[in-house]
Amino acid sequence: MLDQYRRDFADFNTACAREHYLFQSGQKTILEIAPIYERYGHLFDRDLVESLKRRLSDSDISDSEMLSIGRLLTFAIEQFLEDSVKELTEQISDHEATSTVEWKGRPITFQDATVNIANEPDRQRRRELYSKRLEAIEAANDLRSKRLLKLHQTALSLGYSSYTNLFEEVRKLDYTAIDGQASQVLASTESTYIRRLDEVLRRHLAIGVDDAQRSDAIYLLHLTNFDDRFPSQLMFRVYRDTMAGLGVKVDSQSNINIDSESRPRKNPRAFCMPISIPEEIKLVIRPAGGQSDYQAFLHESGHAQHYGWASSDLSPEFKYTGDYALTETYAFLFNHLVSDKSWLATFLGMKDSDEFVRSVMLARLVTVRRYVAKLSYENALHRSDDLAASSLQYAERQTAATHFKTEPEEFLFDLDDGFYSASYLRAWAFEVSLREYLKTKFGSQWWGSKRAGDFLKEIWETGDRYTADEMASQIGLGPIRFDLLTEEFNTTLK
Ligand SMILES: [Zn+2]
Repeated sequence: MLDQYRRDFADFNTACAREHYLFQSGQKTILEIAPIYERYGHLFDRDLVESLKRRLSDSDISDSEMLSIGRLLTFAIEQFLEDSVKELTEQISDHEATSTVEWKGRPITFQDATVNIANEPDRQRRRELYSKRLEAIEAANDLRSKRLLKLHQTALSLGYSSYTNLFEEVRKLDYTAIDGQASQVLASTESTYIRRLDEVLRRHLAIGVDDAQRSDAIYLLHLTNFDDRFPSQLMFRVYRDTMAGLGVKVDSQSNINIDSESRPRKNPRAFCMPISIPEEIKLVIRPAGGQSDYQAFLHESGHAQHYGWASSDLSPEFKYTGDYALTETYAFLFNHLVSDKSWLATFLGMKDSDEFVRSVMLARLVTVRRYVAKLSYENALHRSDDLAASSLQYAERQTAATHFKTEPEEFLFDLDDGFYSASYLRAWAFEVSLREYLKTKFGSQWWGSKRAGDFLKEIWETGDRYTADEMASQIGLGPIRFDLLTEEFNTTLK
């Protein structure tokens, strides 16, 4: 029974990933996942969830079967949740894909609005566009509220005490504890952060930290003033040469396909879609220019290499389900090359990168602080059904952590399912120690070492077999801690 289940499970993942890829890359105007869920409903219906749970509590179950069944149960439960809201997911996607914003006398897509805010130097116009974008988000908030409340109910219907309790049980993580650890990053970087942020805001936007708003953050994080140092036409070559240093020949990787075409409805957020692991991996970007393209593309290339090198012999449950913090760690490892002065000198001829590196580290700290606030907000959000109160908490926590005044409207838009924010936070923490390990073992220019490449291929080969904590322990680094992350920010931004 398990073999057939595994085959269908892999097919389901491939079908969903392909549909998401076509929609997110702007090649399909509507997202049609409901038919896929109907076709594969037997993989995650209530009976199946119950039978997997029963098998897990059988006394004759082996350790390896327990691990496999545990993963398949996690998958079944997550899809059971999604199945209960699939129509709402489609309606929300449809809304985002079709809504337009009036800008400079003509309608632009919702996705284009985000790109334009990041590139708009005029503060007033940026705010104006931002509030129009908020209106478009607000227009679908009823649907998002309905979807969230339904997810909460579905979690209860499976016998868990809450949505949070469900994810903590299946993922064996304690989100309150992670929140507690990650929150220390906020306290320990607070004074450095305020000082640097105020300095940068005054210099680049002529405002103080008390006047900063979320739309300013979107613009500031884009680091437009460094755009000419990161030419678009060089990006793919930089990627190819970086990987070549590690002994990875991207031109002969027929399983990793780059989609960089510009389409009006293509999501501005770069992404990697592993359609079939390791045979068919999509690396998708919508170039908007500048360093953020480089960061986004390198980030997604970390995912693509991870999945592209995963062994085809792995069981599907170790390819398509796992601890997202692991793949995010590999993504951040490449993402963070842009803050490595010697990498910048080697691949982009940047000799004087001090100012850029400080800017990029400040931008990264804004993002990390944003995610710390997101996780603590999500911990509260999923414990209550009072969404009006939650929207205010979202705004308060975001504003307090980032010091950019944030409005409540994005409280359900700026949210991923299943505590993904905790995966990012754990990955940021793990990545710093993995990077330090690579430097110690293969030299400060680890990215130019074939041996470092061999080491990475060896861990990538295990796909999603291990959790981030298990991988950290196996390398000799674990458990994941946040102190190195804090230290790195305080050192580079002092
Ligand atoms: Zn990622």
